[in-house]
Amino acid sequence: MGEPASKVNVSREQLATAVRALCADFGHDYWQRADEARAYPHEFVDALTEAGYLACLIPEEYGGMGLGVREACVILEEINRSGGNAAACHAQMYTMGTLLRHGSAEQKRRYLPGIASGDLCLQAFAVTEPDAGSDTTRIRTFAERRGDRYVVNGQKVFISRVRQSDLMILLARTTPIDEVEKRTGGLSAFIVDLRDAGEALRTAPIDTMINHESCEVFFDGLEVPAGNRIGEEGRGFRYIMSGMNAERILLASESIGDGMYFIDRASDYASARKVFGRRIGENQGVQFPIADAYMDVRAAAAVRDEAAREYDGGEVRGEGPNIAKYLASRAAWKAANVAMDTFGGWGMATEYGIERKFREARLYMVAPVANNLVLSHVAMHVLGMPRSF
Ligand SMILES: Cc1cc2nc3c(=O)[nH]c(=O)nc-3n(C[C@H](O)[C@H](O)[C@H](O)COP(=O)(O)OP(=O)(O)OC[C@H]3O[C@@H](n4cnc5c(N)ncnc54)[C@H](O)[C@@H]3O)c2cc1C
Repeated sequence: MGEPASKVNVSREQLATAVRALCADFGHDYWQRADEARAYPHEFVDALTEAGYLACLIPEEYGGMGLGVREACVILEEINRSGGNAAACHAQMYTMGTLLRHGSAEQKRRYLPGIASGDLCLQAFAVTEPDAGSDTTRIRTFAERRGDRYVVNGQKVFISRVRQSDLMILLARTTPIDEVEKRTGGLSAFIVDLRDAGEALRTAPIDTMINHESCEVFFDGLEVPAGNRIGEEGRGFRYIMSGMNAERILLASESIGDGMYFIDRASDYASARKVFGRRIGENQGVQFPIADAYMDVRAAAAVRDEAAREYDGGEVRGEGPNIAKYLASRAAWKAANVAMDTFGGWGMATEYGIERKFREARLYMVAPVANNLVLSHVAMHVLGMPRSF
């Protein structure tokens, strides 16, 4: 197992080396077995937690590493470049960002030390609903204020790792949409203690083509103490969006890691595999697409680095995070297809690992935000064009 990185003044290179060493203990066979059994990779998540990496964004005063998004990017990128799947636990890193930036001092004291130590698992982030889809302002899950509590009714879909979590960040309406001036108003964010939920919260797994632990979540009169509302009532959309910007930069890093995984594997294979008496990588038809895909991943990484630097410097706009997520997901997907082509039939054989990563890499074209919605964000908010929907 790799040595934990020092909490103080850790360089990005040291961090990458330490994470790489940790990931070396969880190779292809480990991830393949978890994928086939649709099993949660507990051993890997425990090792990351123990090394402190999942608490890297939590300030030192609460027991975390006190690092920035730039360093968190290094961790997630290395996991995916090693062939692993950081999606199993990435939300433990950034979901608490909403609490950290917008929660009360009491909420931070109550939850952050436990999240930092790994005693409390906060990996669930509940926004998406079946009827609203990408149009978050149309969510219908409603939290009605009754005295010192809210009573929540409604339904979410694709809520990842809810079954592994102790806590969940929830976005719900607190004012009906037809009573607010702006559609983004009247939404509130809550920290839900899943351990107290009992029968009022039910989950049902959604089988997907990847090992991802996503669920439908049904709320039937779930009581949440008013003290668990994050920030002001009605301003939850804004709080959630600031967390989502970090999420986009971090998931872009997973795509960059995936992209480099495919390129590493494809270039090694093309340099070794002989057909027609020569290595397949001697053919420009094989080597050029790999070089082309590599350059796309490098370009996406540069945009991701810039977005992470800006985010750590206090930038709140979504331009950089959205562009990074879009470019990185496309670069990874291109690299995935190039690796598939390079491996020929063996790309589809589970023993080579390419097909598993191919399935995993596809997710980021649609989540956490569909790439079409990124295009519309850039067209409207960056280029000033009219709203298209
Ligand atoms: C494995 C997995 C894990 C997930 N985990 C979570 C989670 O933990 N928490 C959570 O809240 N959500 C989660 N999601 C949900 C994810 O964020 C949504 O799937 C995603 O935002 C898209 O929403 P949708 O699936 O409803 O697609 P829709 O909104 O129905 O969109 C379908 C298609 O139409 C396109 N489209 C829609 N409107 C427009 C438009 N106006 N212009 C152009 N194109 C448009 C979209 O780009 C997309 O291609 C997860 C999803 C998956 C698959």
